[in-house]
Amino acid sequence: MEASVIKSDDKSSTLLLSDFKLSFVNALRRVIINSVDTLAIEDVTIFKNTSSMYDEILASRLGLVPLKTIPELVKSKKEILFKLKETGPKAVHASDFIPSDKDIVPVYPDMLLLNLKEGESIDLEAKAVFGRGSDHIKFSPAHVSYHFYPVIDIKKGGVKGAAKIASLCPVNILEGSGDNLSVKKGMTQDCILCKACEDYAGQENIKISSDPEKVIFSLENWGQLSTKEIFEQAIESIEEELKEIGKKV
Ligand code: SF4
Repeated sequence: MEASVIKSDDKSSTLLLSDFKLSFVNALRRVIINSVDTLAIEDVTIFKNTSSMYDEILASRLGLVPLKTIPELVKSKKEILFKLKETGPKAVHASDFIPSDKDIVPVYPDMLLLNLKEGESIDLEAKAVFGRGSDHIKFSPAHVSYHFYPVIDIKKGGVKGAAKIASLCPVNILEGSGDNLSVKKGMTQDCILCKACEDYAGQENIKISSDPEKVIFSLENWGQLSTKEIFEQAIESIEEELKEIGKKV
């Protein structure tokens, strides 16, 4: 399989894959979602909660707070304790969590956990453990998807209502005026194959299809791990699973 980076930053990565087996591309997607270790809050001990949020809802909400995960700690199966003790009036944010390890902190400190009114208070201890998306989706490190590379065929010689057609594109990759409709430079891969342009203009003017030889693979991480760390762990997981299969065959 060949892969090239279309775009990549701290939060997301988009790759162009060719010479692939579709089953492997799907395996990679599933392994990233299900088989990468991250930290998340698993147990919550509530000593006091006089807020309007039920204990169960509060605990469930805490479980969904993404926590910075250090891959080197995965093998140690380390558990991290967090304390939260606040009195209203106060908007309680993820940054109010006090961790037992200063390096394991919520990814989004401004994430609102709950609002305490005058006289309300909470006092709790939460334990974060390592887990995988196959245990619970809160451990999953990213949203991952893929689709075939789009092909946008625009009739040569012009398309009536080009500006109107361009305005229908939900990802704004078309431009047009008069009868001149075109795809903005370097943006073909951003087409989401919705066919809004084709439906409006008719297939004789615009034909949307896809190239089965090329796949666009997109990953948007939730912040526990960097994109590079996610790919490294996913490849390790695939290798481990293949070794297990090898032993059993
Ligand atoms: S198929 Fe949808 S996303 Fe693609 S160019 Fe047409 S309107 Fe835009």
